[in-house]
Amino acid sequence: EDVVNRIAAGEIVQRPANALKELIENSLDAHSTNIIITVKAGGLKYLQIQDNGTGIRNEDLEIVCERFTTSKLRQYDDLKQISTYGFRGEALASISHIAHLTILTKTGIAKCAYKASYKDGKLLGPIKACAGNNGTQITVEDLFYNVIARKKALRSPSEEYSHIMEVVGAYAIHNSSIAFTLKKFGENTDIKTPTNSSVIENVRIIHGNQIARELMEVEIKDSTLKLLVQGHITNVNYSHKKGTMLLFINHRLVDSQAIRKAVDSIYSTYLPRNTHAFVYLSIELDPRNVDVNVHPTKHEVQFLYEEQIIEKIKSCIESKLLSCNS
Ligand code: ADP
Ligand code: MG
Repeated sequence: EDVVNRIAAGEIVQRPANALKELIENSLDAHSTNIIITVKAGGLKYLQIQDNGTGIRNEDLEIVCERFTTSKLRQYDDLKQISTYGFRGEALASISHIAHLTILTKTGIAKCAYKASYKDGKLLGPIKACAGNNGTQITVEDLFYNVIARKKALRSPSEEYSHIMEVVGAYAIHNSSIAFTLKKFGENTDIKTPTNSSVIENVRIIHGNQIARELMEVEIKDSTLKLLVQGHITNVNYSHKKGTMLLFINHRLVDSQAIRKAVDSIYSTYLPRNTHAFVYLSIELDPRNVDVNVHPTKHEVQFLYEEQIIEKIKSCIESKLLSCNS
């Protein structure tokens, strides 16, 4: 059974950045305002996330890594009203099947913090009382230590780290009121955004002055489609890097080939060849219209009224580009 669970977990968590995304979403769900991520070897050796959120109750520590254990789905009706990122209770369980997982956590009302380690979904040894701040620290070590095939398929630690930078950068821009820090263990900080920052300021911190200066705001509101799109785009990205597309649907970092293609097609009409843009879009839809049955870490998302919504996005971006290129 463990082998089956391990294979399933390896499908869900394909690389360190996938695991980190789930952990960040848990910290956001827990109302954290400060999230600090520390990484060794691209997250393969060591991936730690420290937050100052609600913490996990001592009595819940025993079960948090069991499959389908979640504190976020109280009743079936919630399925239609999902506002939190996670609801399947699979992330911690999956990670515990393919890595050494340790949780150190303290709730506001607990007298001390508690530390617990997990393997294959189960608590490993007793929960220990110890000193600690309010919030939760999750440490993932030796990811894929027991999934040799997955480990072999991965690229270098530096490539894994660049995926981690992308994920942290995206969440920091989207959640600009929350402070994010990303660093390699024992080295300088690579990303550091303050609390109560702004989208533009965080783009400046993460992508540089040139892009931040170019940003244009986009907004679409459509009550019939129950659609709200907010974002920032550039006309041209003068940096030599490739273009950037950050797409959030209902506050979850996702990918949509359809939206990506549509946006690319608009830009290729207005921009010279080989220039790239920065595009950040936050799309809010009626949760009932978004397919929530996709895999927890499957990025590709499906939603209703895709064609109409994409048309709206296209014409909005087009009018922005026209206004500054005419
Ligand atoms: P889900 O997020 O779908 O509920 P997870 O496996 O990601 O499932 O997490 C399981 C449970 O562990 C969550 O429902 C939550 O109660 C608790 N939890 C995980 N991470 C945190 C955190 N950083 N702060 C507080 N609680 C957490
Ligand atoms: Mg979760």
